[in-house]
Amino acid sequence: SERSFIMIKPDGVQRNLVSEIIGRFERRGYKLCGLKMVQPTRQLAESHYADLSERPFFGDLCTFLSSSPVVAMVWAGADVVKQGRTMIGATDPLKSAPGTIRGDLALVTGKNVIHGSDSCENAEKEIALWFKDGEVC
Ligand code: ATP
Ligand code: MG
Repeated sequence: SERSFIMIKPDGVQRNLVSEIIGRFERRGYKLCGLKMVQPTRQLAESHYADLSERPFFGDLCTFLSSSPVVAMVWAGADVVKQGRTMIGATDPLKSAPGTIRGDLALVTGKNVIHGSDSCENAEKEIALWFKDGEVC
């Protein structure tokens, strides 16, 4: 079935939001098929956000992502890429509806708690970037 790469960013881990976020995906009915805690290298952070490399905030973004551990996950189920993005909310938490993860749990764009793949194609690329064969069911 469809898969998405979902990552709890350093701020979400440090704020002890791991079970809150995993619980939302579990209760919605999605299946967890990969999970690991890892402190990304700067190189991995830069690869993950390569599409944003020309943006002025790219350096700070990669510094932040590689600053402390993240929880990297693969979730599977019906329409998980689009539904996951809806559950996460807008990039700017101040524009995220209440009920979304960012709308309930964040205030600042640079510390918006969670990443979700924005297309099926990018989901598969990100899963291959973050997980080895055999680490995902
Ligand atoms: P993510 O890819 O992390 O799920 P997103 O898809 O909502 O977030 P992107 O446009 O892919 O948003 O940006 C990636 C991340 O870069 C954002 O989550 C945010 O932390 C940061 N970011 C995006 N735009 C800005 C900005 N204008 N100023 C500062 N940081 C930004
Ligand atoms: Mg994005």
